[in-house]
Amino acid sequence: MQSFTYHAPRSVPEATQLLASGDGNAVFLAGGTDILVQLRENLRHASQVIDVKHISELNELSMDGANGLVLGAAVTCNQFLNSPATESYTALRDATQIIGGWQIQSRATIGGNLCNSSPAADSVPALLALGATVKFATSDGVQELPVSQFCTGPGKNVMHGKGLLIAIYIPPAGNQSGSAYQRFIPRYEMDIAVANAASYVELGKDGTVAEARIALGAVGPTAILADEASAMLMSKLPNEEAIEAAARKAATYAHPIDDMRGTIEFRQQLAYVMVKRTLQTALRRAAGEVIVAHPH
Ligand SMILES: Cc1cc2nc3c(=O)[nH]c(=O)nc-3n(C[C@H](O)[C@H](O)[C@H](O)COP(=O)(O)OP(=O)(O)OC[C@H]3O[C@@H](n4cnc5c(N)ncnc54)[C@H](O)[C@@H]3O)c2cc1C
Repeated sequence: MQSFTYHAPRSVPEATQLLASGDGNAVFLAGGTDILVQLRENLRHASQVIDVKHISELNELSMDGANGLVLGAAVTCNQFLNSPATESYTALRDATQIIGGWQIQSRATIGGNLCNSSPAADSVPALLALGATVKFATSDGVQELPVSQFCTGPGKNVMHGKGLLIAIYIPPAGNQSGSAYQRFIPRYEMDIAVANAASYVELGKDGTVAEARIALGAVGPTAILADEASAMLMSKLPNEEAIEAAARKAATYAHPIDDMRGTIEFRQQLAYVMVKRTLQTALRRAAGEVIVAHPH
């Protein structure tokens, strides 16, 4: 392991000052399940490591009916899963409970998963489908953005290593809404998604779709919202025909790479299957069915 100076700031300004006053080689550490592996394997270099877990603002986990969920950037996957406040955010719960195993989940944060900005990250499509936004601080001040504008490429995001993610905000789930996340991995667990998808569907009083968001991951440089596919569902009865058409459209948003883990055609087909399944599960949940996530 490379040697570095460890800092444990107690406030957002202290953390951003440490980052700004470093030699350009400072990194933030939340659970460390990505960054410590990267430092140990010399994939990244850091002279200073700034631990964000002691900043109280980053540990907030609260919910109110009007504004939704506040998920501080240092909240672990386990804290998220154990909180009754998160019960209606089923897509993110599906995703969070398959990030590594429970040892990883007790350290890893959803904020770290987002900041690591892997195209295959499990939480990101779920955050997109749930309409999440983020708040982060840079030396220019505090900014808020939709998650859809946050990741800019593999391992890259709008903060360019110069920002501190403070919190993720997720709007309240609507009445008669449901959401779901699924990934395909070749092994039973502990693997990276070959393709993944998340869907959110909200029904109106007449049973037609009042709101829909479909997101895809691992089939392009960043996870993305398939806006036209979501729009195809609007004001329609969510029958098999509508789901099939939306899933086919969503798959056209998949522009995957061809590698040892899957060909382009395989990943495009997976995108279609994952979207179809997540839409079906989201709709069953919207109808009040309790569906425990199938882990893969
Ligand atoms: C065995 C194992 C299995 C795994 N399985 C999965 C899996 O199934 N699915 C999956 O998606 N991932 C998986 N991962 C990757 C990792 O666990 C997740 O990405 C995790 O959510 C990262 O969170 P963390 O808190 O540990 O982040 P860290 O490692 O602490 O940080 C990750 C990155 O984000 C930056 N960062 C962290 N917090 C902030 C902040 N507040 N502001 C700005 N930048 C910040 C860090 O500098 C670093 O670049 C696995 C990792 C391991 C070791």
